[in-house]
Amino acid sequence: MNSPDNANAIAIDGPAGSGKSTISKLLARKLKYTYIDTGAMYRALTLKVMREEVELANEEAIIKVSNDFDFKFVPNETDDAPARVVLDGEDVSEAIRTLEVSANVKHVCKIPEVRENLVNIQKSLARNMAGAVMEGRDIGTVVLPGAKYKFYVDAEFSERVRRRFMELEAKGMSATEDEVADDLRQRDHTDKTREVGPLKQADDAVLVDTTDLTVEEVVDKIISYVKEV
Ligand code: C5P
Repeated sequence: MNSPDNANAIAIDGPAGSGKSTISKLLARKLKYTYIDTGAMYRALTLKVMREEVELANEEAIIKVSNDFDFKFVPNETDDAPARVVLDGEDVSEAIRTLEVSANVKHVCKIPEVRENLVNIQKSLARNMAGAVMEGRDIGTVVLPGAKYKFYVDAEFSERVRRRFMELEAKGMSATEDEVADDLRQRDHTDKTREVGPLKQADDAVLVDTTDLTVEEVVDKIISYVKEV
């Protein structure tokens, strides 16, 4: 099933708050692979849709925006921090992380034509990398079904709420634990019930429960698995 196109790709999927971003970044750094955050692409497209004041219910108009999506990951030359997210020539790495963008992504990422456009870009990114850690919701199932290694990262709901709450607090964004729980519950629901590219563990993915593990422990576990196979 491994295709030469993505033989050296590691697919990481999982729900929001599972720790998969932190894990994927550290994993990529340790293996000297390129980290590709597909959520950032859906976020950047959502930001563009918002900036162009496109009606979020207007799927045709959103598809048009996605047909002409000028998006790049630009590596950080000075350190090994993740690549910058560049939209229409502008660095939007921070702008895509607002709660407003988070809340609006669902309107964009449920549209099949939009997903097809972004999945094609993601496939070609992985094809051009010597080694990639690609993180998202549908990587093992849709984007890189032939990836050599696939992991589905999850954690107990209460732990995911706790992590997300602390993350927002650290960024100075105010939200109660109840609000965070509601947001995660809703995102789980839309991610898992989407008709195209839903969040789902691939049949051949290894499930990693991060509830009681530190980031280092999870990454070491994944690396030992990668070395074993
Ligand atoms: O990973 P992150 O939470 O930043 O992703 C932002 C949104 O993009 C998520 O809510 C998710 O629904 C969507 N997404 C997606 N497919 C991916 C990655 C993210 O639909 N491969």
